[in-house]
Amino acid sequence: MPPALPPASVAVVLGTRPEIVKLGHVIRLLGPAARVVHTGQHFDASLSAVFLEAFGIGAPDVHLSVGGETRGRQIGIAVGALDEHFGDDRPLAVVGQGDTNSTLAAALAANAREIPLVHVEAGLRSRDRRMPEEHNRVVTDHLADLCCAPTETSRGNLRSEGIPDDRIAVTGNTVVEAVTSLQPDHDRRQDLLGEYRLEANAFVLSTFHRPENVDDPATLRSILESLAALPIPVVLPMHPRTRARVERFGLGELLASLRVTEPIGYVDFLGLAASSAMLISDSGGVQEEASVIKRPVLVVRRSTERPEVLGTFAERVEPGPSIGEVATAWWSEIDDLHARLAGIPSPYGDGTASEQTVAAIAALVG
Ligand code: UDP
Repeated sequence: MPPALPPASVAVVLGTRPEIVKLGHVIRLLGPAARVVHTGQHFDASLSAVFLEAFGIGAPDVHLSVGGETRGRQIGIAVGALDEHFGDDRPLAVVGQGDTNSTLAAALAANAREIPLVHVEAGLRSRDRRMPEEHNRVVTDHLADLCCAPTETSRGNLRSEGIPDDRIAVTGNTVVEAVTSLQPDHDRRQDLLGEYRLEANAFVLSTFHRPENVDDPATLRSILESLAALPIPVVLPMHPRTRARVERFGLGELLASLRVTEPIGYVDFLGLAASSAMLISDSGGVQEEASVIKRPVLVVRRSTERPEVLGTFAERVEPGPSIGEVATAWWSEIDDLHARLAGIPSPYGDGTASEQTVAAIAALVG
């Protein structure tokens, strides 16, 4: 165990559901040393409170309100509010995760106050400069005093940009322990199948929310049409951003043959994912989770920052007919595909990433 840190001395900044998923165990392991700072980037109960609860984390210690703003204003407001907070009550370290506007704001605010910064899930690169996430992660990595890289590939990305080895630790990805600790048992999974009127291994679980897929009416239409034409039921928990676009573009009638739901809590989402035939998604985290639950994921994106799963758990396609072609081909040999994936280890480590991260934080501030 790392040496005890003073109470509330490590500010863990988060603002969206994937950050809660990937920092949940880090916060638990930090115990009283953790100070949870929520920027409010996505503060709806369905995207925030239910995720904190799943990890046994109470209300955030500090709550800022940057939601509903443009990217620039979100980052600017969050940096200002974090700067004020860090000025009033200086932490020993700031921890941010991934590639959100909240992560970048945490990095800039820590840097401005000269507080050591730890970046969890460092070194991912899509090389796609059209994605705001790519800029967020690059800047955060370069400001970080410690980059916790999930894989050797991500370490290689950091090294190739000149980040020295003494600022990099390869820890694995904390998603592994999130999935293995919260995956519901067989009985709960059976109940879920009953609630959603589904048969095990005979449905698709799908999520979409990235601007490249939902902000253009023609692209969103083609994705929804592809999902509706699949030979098995499709469960589509709809992100608020996607729902707003469907309404704005008048695409509601395309939802008729899909099983559209509100965003699903993490535990139930994992249960449905593990019982599904396949996942079709533009999510980053779902690609990693697929490698732990051993289900294939069709990644609908122009690029991916997670090449580790391509060719095994994941295939990437652009929106359009390829969605139906690949999904139908997978469906035609689904049992064999599941059997093959069951034998492939996740590239994201052994489930100790959170422990390694907390030990590294303690060493950094100790
Ligand atoms: N997720 C969930 N319920 C849902 C949809 C997604 O619990 O209805 C989880 C999913 O398992 C993953 C995370 O939310 O852990 C992904 O969030 P999102 O796709 O918003 O972000 P990204 O991973 O792309 O950054």
